[in-house]
Order: sequence, then structure tokens, then C-alpha cells
Amino acid sequence: MSTRAKATAEDKTPEAVTEAQPKETEQQLCGKPHFLPALTHVTCTQPAPDPDLPPGTPDHQHQHLDGDALYIW
Ligand SMILES: [Zn+2]
Repeated sequence: MSTRAKATAEDKTPEAVTEAQPKETEQQLCGKPHFLPALTHVTCTQPAPDPDLPPGTPDHQHQHLDGDALYIW
């Protein structure tokens, strides 16, 4: 019978996991593909720009993190 150390392993409060995150409304991503034809599978993972921005507002800096490689364009 092993009674030691078992209690600590299972002594996690379930609600800390289930209720830690507020219900996320679906985050719209920018999704703009990289401008290089070879990197079109690289799409921007930044939040989509606000549609209410006035015309002529420059794009945000598109980013995509692929493992250790961070693409910025
Ligand atoms: Zn973007």
C-alpha cells in the first residue's frame, strides 16, 4: 500500500483549471499571408485590425511565430 505522496499529486483544485479563463469570444485573427510567395503558408496571428479605423491607417506589423522562427512583415 502506498499512501504517501499520492495526496499531493491529486490535490489540485478542479475549479482553478476550469474557471481560470473567462469564456473567450472568438478572437478574429488578421490572417494576412506573408508577402513572399514562398511563405504564403505563414499567416499573421495578430488580432484583426479594427474595422472602424479610418481609411489610410497603416497596417499593423504582421507577425507569425513558427516554432523558434518569428516572421515579421
Ligand atoms: Zn496582420
